[in-house]
Amino acid sequence: MSWDSQRDEPAEPAIHPPAGVALARGAKCLCPACGQGKLFNGYLRVVDECSACHAPLGRIRADDAPPYFTIFLAGHVLLPGVFLVDKIWRPEMWVHMAIWLPAFAIVSTLLLRPVKGMVVAWMMRLGLTGDEQGAPVVVVAPSRRPAPDA
Ligand SMILES: [Zn+2]
Repeated sequence: MSWDSQRDEPAEPAIHPPAGVALARGAKCLCPACGQGKLFNGYLRVVDECSACHAPLGRIRADDAPPYFTIFLAGHVLLPGVFLVDKIWRPEMWVHMAIWLPAFAIVSTLLLRPVKGMVVAWMMRLGLTGDEQGAPVVVVAPSRRPAPDA
């Protein structure tokens, strides 16, 4: 078997797959660009770059958007059940808490990872790949900072 000089070349990152494809890959916790590399290193930590296409996924900052969408979805999935159970059986409040607190915790834990994958994919599609955060950081020396009462 002869050595192939092209084999070790990183694949060209296809950073603009169709939005539906990118979102589906993100929901499956795969690289939204190529769909082959893993998106996460651990539960929610985004890998620095895709192991397959070297897309710089680690620079995409999803921040608070995944928890926001997860809470929104978990609420819409479970709250009808909360109201239905309360209307039909009228259980004590401790029964509600015993049922719904674990249910919300489980559903949120299961949803957060694919939702974050979809947020990262959507941000990649929008071009929010971290380059917009590349502005130079201006460090002001302590002696040049204005006094607090100035
Ligand atoms: Zn990739």
